[in-house]
Parts: sequence; structure tokens; C-alpha cells
Amino acid sequence: MYNIVIIGAGVIGLSIAKAIGERTNDSVLIVEKEDSYGRGISSRNSEVIHSGIYYEPDSLKASYCKRGRELIYDFCSTNHVWMNKCGKLIVAKTHQIEDLEVLNENAKINGIRDVRIIDKKEIQHLEQNVDADLALYVGCAGIVSAHGLMTAFFKHSQTNDHDYLFKSRVVGAKQLSEGYELEIENANGEIEQVSCDWVINASGLESDLVAQMLGENFPSLKYSKGCYFKLGSKWRNVFKHLIYPLPDKALGSLGIHLTLDETQSVKLG
Ligand SMILES: Cc1cc2nc3c(=O)[nH]c(=O)nc-3n(C[C@H](O)[C@H](O)[C@H](O)COP(=O)(O)OP(=O)(O)OC[C@H]3O[C@@H](n4cnc5c(N)ncnc54)[C@H](O)[C@@H]3O)c2cc1C
Repeated sequence: MYNIVIIGAGVIGLSIAKAIGERTNDSVLIVEKEDSYGRGISSRNSEVIHSGIYYEPDSLKASYCKRGRELIYDFCSTNHVWMNKCGKLIVAKTHQIEDLEVLNENAKINGIRDVRIIDKKEIQHLEQNVDADLALYVGCAGIVSAHGLMTAFFKHSQTNDHDYLFKSRVVGAKQLSEGYELEIENANGEIEQVSCDWVINASGLESDLVAQMLGENFPSLKYSKGCYFKLGSKWRNVFKHLIYPLPDKALGSLGIHLTLDETQSVKLG
């Protein structure tokens, strides 16, 4: 019997575990179907600490992004997680100025500082190898080692005596008069029952299925797959900022962008 079971040990499940550990002495079990934490989307992304300039004003996404960014930078500094507040350039041609201005205005409404439109000369000063007429400079965007961040969250959770069940999949759930009973399948195909007061669904790509098991209504998922290409070592240390195009409205994506990692290697994707 646990107070709380968290389903999924990605960055969301781990950060929730950390937050619970800081606030309560509740007993916590984290159930993860893979053999370790961070094997899902959380280790297959651009590792960008977003600024929040894209999101609709007054939306939860806008406010969480802004607050979350500040918390991540603070957490990384105090916990020695690699990050780089390198800033980002959203590059454009002259005829795209209106789209840049819309983003710039949205950034202001969302209260994001250190954002401005810069001209070709300033772009060249910041990034010699970028050929663009205009750019939106976003100073507060950065990058983080996603795995480093998850490892730090995991360690915090462990110091609070949270239990982890890896190679274990939640396959069923029953709501009791008080709390839940979960069916958990281990690597040998055996099913174990665990009861708890609260269930936290942090199961990423399976969150809709888990929600169904729990009898909850859930919006349908919209899948997006990312493909990344690492450039050869001669490109190392060539770029200092994240470089993005204007968002691709037709695809609903941020567009193919350039990111850097801990070794200053360049990824496109
Ligand atoms: C291409 C791409 C690029 C992105 N770039 C960025 C970026 O630059 N910056 C940013 O902030 N965000 C980015 N994101 C979004 C970010 O990666 C996700 O929001 C985040 O990783 C989601 O974390 P999660 O913990 O919810 O999911 P996951 O990391 O997938 O964790 C869910 C876990 O639940 C487990 N699980 C699922 N079902 C069960 C079950 N039944 N029982 C037990 N365990 C289960 C899975 O194995 C998995 O480990 C990007 C996303 C994509 C797709």
C-alpha cells in the first residue's frame, strides 16, 4: 500500500517525485516499463529550455514555461546539471518581418524579457556562419542535459526513500471506494497488485491508455516524431546560439532547428 503511485519515470514522473519528496513524507512508488528512467520521449528531444514566446497569452503553457524555465536554471545551477543559457535566434528573410513582429509582440505580452528583433549586422556579429536578413533574438532560451536533469531528479527522489519498479508495466487499474488498485506486470509476465491513495499518470505516449484504465476522460494524443542529425566534428564550437526558422504553421512544428550539446556538437532536427 502506497500513498502515491507515479506511472512513468520520464522527466515528468521524476520531477513530480522530486516535488512530492520536498513537500511530504508520503510513500511513493514509481512504476516504469523500461529498464531504467528516461528511456522515453525525455531522452529523444532537442533539450531546449524554451522561453515561452510561442504560447498563447494567459495559457497554462505560457505561464508554466516561464516559471519552469526559471526553476530549471536555478535547479541546474545548484545541482551541477549541465546547462547553457546560450540564447536563440529565430532567423528570417526581409519579407517575413511581420511574422517576427507577431512573435516579438507575443513575447512582450507573455512577459519574456531579453527578446528583440536584430538586423543582419548584429546577426553576423553573433553568428558569423548564419546568413539571414533579420532575426528574433531570445536571450533567455537555453539547453540542458536532459539525462543530467533526470539523474538529479532521480537522486532527489531516492533520498526520500521512494521505491522504483523498473521493467514493470501498469496493465490494469480499479478504482476502490478510497484509492486505486493497480495491476502491474513484471518482466516475467507475472501480475502483482498494488493499492494506493493517489495515482499520477506520467506515462507519456501511453498516457491516454493509462487514463482509460483509470476511467478518466483524456484528450486524444497528437503524435510528433523528431529526427536528428549530428554534424561532424569540424562543426564543433562553430555556433554559439540555438538557431531556429520561423515556426512551420502548416506542420504545427517549430521547424528544423540547430541545437548544441554539452560537447558543443551540433544537431539538426
Ligand atoms: C521531437 C521532440 C522534440 C522535443 N524537444 C523538446 C525541447 O527541446 N524542450 C522541451 O522542453 N521539450 C521538448 N519536447 C517535449 C518533451 O520531450 C516531452 O514533453 C517530455 O519528454 C515528456 O516527458 P514525459 O515524462 O511525459 O514522457 P516520457 O519521457 O515518454 O516518459 C513516460 C514514461 O512512461 C513509461 N510508461 C508508459 N506507459 C507505461 C505503463 N503502462 N506502465 C509503466 N510505465 C509506462 C514510458 O516507458 C516512459 O518512460 C520534445 C518532444 C519531441 C517529440
